[in-house]
Amino acid sequence: MGSFISFEQVCFSYESGGRRDGDAPLALRDLSLDIDAGSFVAVLGHNGSGKSTLAKHLNAILLPVSGRVTVDGMDTADASSVIEIRRRVGMVFQNPDNQIVATLVEEDVAFALENLGVPPAEIRGRVDAALRDVGMYEFREHAPHRLSGGQKQRVAIAGVLAMRPRCIVFDEPTAMLDPAGRQEVISTILSLRREYGVTVVLVTHHMDEAALADRVVVMNDGGIYMDGAPRDLFSRIDELGRAGLAPTQTVALLDGLRSAGWDIGLDALTVDGCARAIKEYLDNAQN
Ligand code: ADP
Ligand code: MG
Repeated sequence: MGSFISFEQVCFSYESGGRRDGDAPLALRDLSLDIDAGSFVAVLGHNGSGKSTLAKHLNAILLPVSGRVTVDGMDTADASSVIEIRRRVGMVFQNPDNQIVATLVEEDVAFALENLGVPPAEIRGRVDAALRDVGMYEFREHAPHRLSGGQKQRVAIAGVLAMRPRCIVFDEPTAMLDPAGRQEVISTILSLRREYGVTVVLVTHHMDEAALADRVVVMNDGGIYMDGAPRDLFSRIDELGRAGLAPTQTVALLDGLRSAGWDIGLDALTVDGCARAIKEYLDNAQN
């Protein structure tokens, strides 16, 4: 068996009506990518680099104009596999308000299950379990539009989780949230990984969120520009700059110290790691 999700030389254009057309601009260009079951992949890239287009290929919302995407061995272009693919790969989008479809939280979470033909007797238990998993069970009879942004996103996550997917794709899920809401959503993602080992693809423009992943993929101009562990990738600040990305603040600080003559590495991902690296440097300098 190959990877859980595989992109083979995928091209996509919004302007060619689904066909390969030499003149149409490409939003994805010959993109190849394999995603292993159970991994946590962050996708970074400047605006317009193709992140959302990539995300929508992961569960057959968009189909390649050339090349192939497979999920658990099924081709997303095969119409008879679409339901099975969407059971395996769920999507959470940026704007929580656009994802609310019902007037009660629990109805909202049940909605996709009804669409996917889950037996009614099973729906109740799945909805309750999913709401507990995201810490929103006590809000099950509330009106979703009255909740905070972070709570709405957790309800959207519960809606996806209730389908028991193998993979959840998050397309900038924290972009519209305040810092508290961001933290709620990120903690929820991390707890789902711990509890269920669910595969996570997290599109984000926050380097600190990407630092939590096992693997970071940087997109540029519809292709994969960098691919590696956060620690290796975040220290490559010149390359990141060419993809339109600023380094994390910790790496920028360490780089500033290097420019000032300190012999210090750039591979601290967190504020704590950065503080430790500086302390170590100073301790060594004293000896
Ligand atoms: P990102 O999510 O990284 O900001 P997108 O995948 O949304 O990038 O966009 C990639 C490219 O496709 C951009 O050039 C964008 O303008 C174009 N694009 C995105 N959505 C549409 C659309 N619905 N119709 C036409 N062009 C689009
Ligand atoms: Mg986008």
